[in-house]
Amino acid sequence: MTTLATGRPQGVPFLDLRDEHARIRGELDAAWAGVLAHGHYIGGPEVAGFEREFAEYVGAAACAGVANGTDALELVLRALGVGRGDEVLVPTNTFVATAEAVLAAGATPRFVDVRPGDLLVDPAAVEAAIGPRTAAVVAVHLFGQVADVPALEVLTRRHGLALVEDAAQAHGARLGGHRAGSAGHAAAFSFYPGKNLGALGDGGAVTSTDTGLVERVRRLADHGRDPRDRHVHQVSGRNSRLDTLQAAVLRVRLRRLDDDNAARRRVVERYRELLPDGCRLVGLEPRGEPVHHLVVVEVDRREDVSAVLTAAGIGWGIHYPVPCHRQPAFADGTPPPSLPVAEAAARRILSLPCSPHTTDEQVERVADVLASAVGRFRDHSLPAP
Ligand SMILES: *Cc1c(COP(=O)(O)O)cnc(C)c1O
Repeated sequence: MTTLATGRPQGVPFLDLRDEHARIRGELDAAWAGVLAHGHYIGGPEVAGFEREFAEYVGAAACAGVANGTDALELVLRALGVGRGDEVLVPTNTFVATAEAVLAAGATPRFVDVRPGDLLVDPAAVEAAIGPRTAAVVAVHLFGQVADVPALEVLTRRHGLALVEDAAQAHGARLGGHRAGSAGHAAAFSFYPGKNLGALGDGGAVTSTDTGLVERVRRLADHGRDPRDRHVHQVSGRNSRLDTLQAAVLRVRLRRLDDDNAARRRVVERYRELLPDGCRLVGLEPRGEPVHHLVVVEVDRREDVSAVLTAAGIGWGIHYPVPCHRQPAFADGTPPPSLPVAEAAARRILSLPCSPHTTDEQVERVADVLASAVGRFRDHSLPAP
């Protein structure tokens, strides 16, 4: 099925969101027809409905929809009282938003290294970095894998720190029977279109077992409005609300999330069987039940291998080529720390096509092309293409 009538192999898209949405077009049409009919474009019934359903799905006591995942993280930190003068420990291997949110809350991100096997935050590195100004730790569940929450819970409890989950890439992932988003003090989710649970635009949410904390986030995200009197503003917040239309879309997609995640798991199983030697799957023995937001491998000569994928029409990505501690945006005038595991991995990681509808044939095609590329470049004396 991966060959065209001409006999030329077809390309494989990294992710085809138009196709994902075309499959549920009827339900999406019904969802926004409902919003058009009632006319409550801000704070309509779909928002409360989604918040209730998502809290239940995650196993949290409450959920507040917000405008995006970055705001979700920032508002959690602010609602926890983390701000000026505080340091927040953040794994350096994450999307920059994790660190931006810390700065937006008025605190300072302090970057720590990750573990070689799964490239997730290393609890030992967190422990070593705790200092007098440390107020919180962000556990980033990168690539849909779950960070070592049990170890981080022990650590943060012992040191009296807040534990916040960045679950932007881990909707539905589980560890020890708990879903991402139900541990620690609170969790932040993003519904950016490409995430496992994605909207048709920006969206985000905060979940927590602490309903009071969720209420504080909800208030901050709605101009600090007093829930009993909308003209009284007890605190200065801002506008970071989840749109009714996006909530309507998210309710449709949430119903499918477990099936979609199961389909991603099958795609990864197929990759696991077919990937050539010299192409190491990151998180080969994952803890818990990951949801494979990204399928990441480590290869030698990544630039050459990715050029071969491009030539074959295969989509790929790098998450992330520059660790946060090396980003100019977070330079503080002192030399960046040495975080060797993340630095070495950043030169070798490559994200492969994966969606709930990636077919066996597509995985076979990607694995074939990778096998030829990795074989060609294993002997470093051979020239690049
Ligand atoms: C996507 C993402 C965010 C930010 O979410 P937005 O909705 O794009 O603001 C934060 N952290 C991680 C790990 C992400 O992948």
